[in-house]
Amino acid sequence: MSSVTLTDVGLVYPNGTVGLEGINLAIADGEFVALVGPSGSGKTTLLRAIAGFLAPSSGSISLDDTVVADSRRSVEPEKRGLGMVFQQHAVWPHWSVERNIAYPLVLAKVPRAERAARVAEVMALVGLAGFGKRNPATLSGGQRQRVALARAIVGRPRVLLLDEALSALDEPLRDSLRLELQSLTRSIGLTVVHVTHDRAEALALADRIVVLDGGRIQQVGSPVELVTRPVTAAVARFLSDATLFTGRRDASGFVADGHPCAVPTEWIETGGVGGHGTGTLAVLPEDVALRPGTGAATDAVVTSSLYGRASNDVIVQWQGVAVRSRVPGRRYLVGERVVVEIGRAMFYEAEANEGALPVASVPVTAR
Ligand code: ADP
Repeated sequence: MSSVTLTDVGLVYPNGTVGLEGINLAIADGEFVALVGPSGSGKTTLLRAIAGFLAPSSGSISLDDTVVADSRRSVEPEKRGLGMVFQQHAVWPHWSVERNIAYPLVLAKVPRAERAARVAEVMALVGLAGFGKRNPATLSGGQRQRVALARAIVGRPRVLLLDEALSALDEPLRDSLRLELQSLTRSIGLTVVHVTHDRAEALALADRIVVLDGGRIQQVGSPVELVTRPVTAAVARFLSDATLFTGRRDASGFVADGHPCAVPTEWIETGGVGGHGTGTLAVLPEDVALRPGTGAATDAVVTSSLYGRASNDVIVQWQGVAVRSRVPGRRYLVGERVVVEIGRAMFYEAEANEGALPVASVPVTAR
């Protein structure tokens, strides 16, 4: 178990593409951190830099108090003491489950008797007790992913790195493995860095979430902080499907540019720096209520309506803006005319959206 510290990490690929820029992040011992962001935002690059497959061009990466990479040197991946699980379970098909799991211990020259005991121990941990002699080809996708997980933790890694490790699995298996992964990593106090494109998974599993965009950190925070207090309009849109309106805010409220959306000041929270002038209003789907009817200024039509257990997921075309609504109540039908009512919104002054805001990189106390 171990902490991971990234200090001013920048990474430029040989072709000049900027993979990471100005990354400052301190992951506490025992913390479960999820990396999320749009495709191409730098999630994989960051994970690979921690793993040692990529060397930073600037800055440094430390595991506990040991610098494992800076612009001059980079400790090889196999000497960093990390465990890794990828999307495609890289399990050797001709080896038994037991032999697959034992492999890292063979490499580490752990004596045979201890090896057997440790393999049995992790097989029980990941729910594979009794499967030792099986050929991986006879297992389900979820079981094979458990083999990959067991192999990643059998060497008692300092940090577990997960790269879309659950993404290839179908629901509801994925859902149950998520729960197991969480209780397993907690019970053994593992530090975990988990890359996922699945926002719900990140919110469900992580102590803290790191939102990346353009190789930079946009925000770091607990799931609740990210959902209720996104620091940029882009984070609100990416994580929570917020609808964005550009316009102007003054003492009386917000008025959109060339659009009838207007929100009085008492319903607006200031998300970014400052709070008046031109900028972006972000409205979470939970704060958009619909009612039947039409109005000159509110002419809107339902273009998509998906049933949900807690609330329906509805998209309304409101004079050129696709507004997302997710509130309990009756299910509106595609084609119905509705009035959009905004209950709460967050305003971000124009400058606050340009590039990343400075964010605290101090870890929360791990569980
Ligand atoms: P993500 O995992 O969030 O989808 P990546 O970390 O893969 O994003 O990519 C970050 C940026 O680095 C993107 O602009 C991507 O095109 C670029 N990139 C990734 N791998 C390479 C590579 N081997 N050579 C050049 N550019 C790359």
